[in-house]
Amino acid sequence: DRMAADARLRRVIEAVCICLTGAEAVLTDMDQRVGDGDLGISMARAAQGIRDEIDEWPAETDPAAVLRAMSATIRRVVGGTSGPLYAILLMRAAATLDAAKENGVRAWSAAFSAAVEGVSELGGARPGDRTMIDALHPAAQALQAALDGGKNQEAALAAAVEAAVQGAAQTASMKPRRGRSSYLGDRALGFADPGAHAVALWLAAVRDALAT
Ligand code: ADP
Ligand code: MG
Ligand code: MG
Repeated sequence: DRMAADARLRRVIEAVCICLTGAEAVLTDMDQRVGDGDLGISMARAAQGIRDEIDEWPAETDPAAVLRAMSATIRRVVGGTSGPLYAILLMRAAATLDAAKENGVRAWSAAFSAAVEGVSELGGARPGDRTMIDALHPAAQALQAALDGGKNQEAALAAAVEAAVQGAAQTASMKPRRGRSSYLGDRALGFADPGAHAVALWLAAVRDALAT
């Protein structure tokens, strides 16, 4: 029902915020190796901004409106490349949810796929370019494939997280073609992409929050 769905979305958002706040040090460290070191701060600022504002969001009964509010907050408080990319991710997810007119796991899976496509369009990154896309794209694919194969929500989310974790790990052997890491060239090899790792972390938080 509607009330339960709203409480669940809120629980997921709060879990993601806790996860990103807790990941500040590791993301800072990773981005210092292959970028400029601000990703930890950016993700923690996003989490804090959302926590500060979540109680004021007016249309909390509408999940798409909640995603749009998150998008606006992130666009405002996050500098760097991640800000606009996460802002468009959430906007695209919201637009797809609106069009779906339902709020089940299949609608969310379609929204996730469209969101990843939005990030690709804005940032120009494809799988293999060593960006957050290398976690997002396989995760969206795995989620959809699991649902198409008849898996339940819990199993499908587990598959998505596994794909994101693997995709993030694989970035360590990818040559950077986008963003600041591209200036490093082969010197980035051996270190995973911080943005892809962040995706694997928050997606695991989503899975855990929905399992409880
Ligand atoms: P920066 O400090 O370089 O502006 P952030 O630290 O906010 O950017 O984010 C860095 C992460 O953003 C990278 O680890 C990568 O995953 C992701 N990224 C960078 N460029 C792109 C792009 N063009 N498309 C998708 N993701 C990107
Ligand atoms: Mg950075
Ligand atoms: Mg920066």
